[in-house]
Amino acid sequence: MQFILSLFLSALSFSSPVHIPVKLAGNFGEPRPNHFHGGIDVKTNHTVNLGVYSIADGYVSAAIVELHGDGLALIVAHPNGHSSYYLHLNRYAPQISASVQRWQYKHHKFTADIRFQPGELPVKRGQLIGLSGNTGASQGPHLHLEIRKTATSTMIDPLIFLNKTIDDHRPPIIHSFKTYPQPSKGIFERSAESRIFSFNRETFTAWGKVGFAVRADDYMDDVSNTFGVRFMKLYCDGKLVFASDATVFRQPTTEWLTRGATSNTISTVKFGS
Ligand SMILES: [Zn+2]
Repeated sequence: MQFILSLFLSALSFSSPVHIPVKLAGNFGEPRPNHFHGGIDVKTNHTVNLGVYSIADGYVSAAIVELHGDGLALIVAHPNGHSSYYLHLNRYAPQISASVQRWQYKHHKFTADIRFQPGELPVKRGQLIGLSGNTGASQGPHLHLEIRKTATSTMIDPLIFLNKTIDDHRPPIIHSFKTYPQPSKGIFERSAESRIFSFNRETFTAWGKVGFAVRADDYMDDVSNTFGVRFMKLYCDGKLVFASDATVFRQPTTEWLTRGATSNTISTVKFGS
């Protein structure tokens, strides 16, 4: 039974949240001025009120109404243990809107964070759940879409699930890098100073402990936006010495943040829309 169940769960298929070609204005993990981007920003033709559709079967587990932040938002829980988040909406679909309004009248409140039980608002893949908008902390009409593990809120790149809905044939480009030789512990190109280099040659020489920052962008078909880079690898003498993968981010817990505030060894990382 368990085997059959797991087969069924892994067969859950995901489809586009919009009925226009998916073009991105922002990708998962890209650095923003004070946070890393926790989802993808889907373009909505510079306008609002475009249909937004559940990307898989499940049920509406939450509706959030904020004047700032997420604006009008929905969370859909899926049977494979993931939830999809739809932010900055202009309206909810009628049935969801009716439930939210009932809650607002009952509680005499406009702002809301309403949790629903599995049987209350079931949705099918491709079902209309709302209209796109520009509500909350949105800088222009778009749909911010996130996927998280339901139990832990761990954030996952939505393109892992929606890779068939997007065209991307343009490789990332690494423009330059900055060196951070550690005082009396590292040398880079005969210098202990922090310097910026371009990739105008094949190899560089280093000794000891040296940190690096890179300036790199990714690109996608048919859009002029630049995006964050998913994978980065650093090789020394042909050996992999560092790798980063921006596919999954664990949301820091309160405890983690508290420890971060009192200790130099744990830093705080912010994610957002
Ligand atoms: Zn966003």
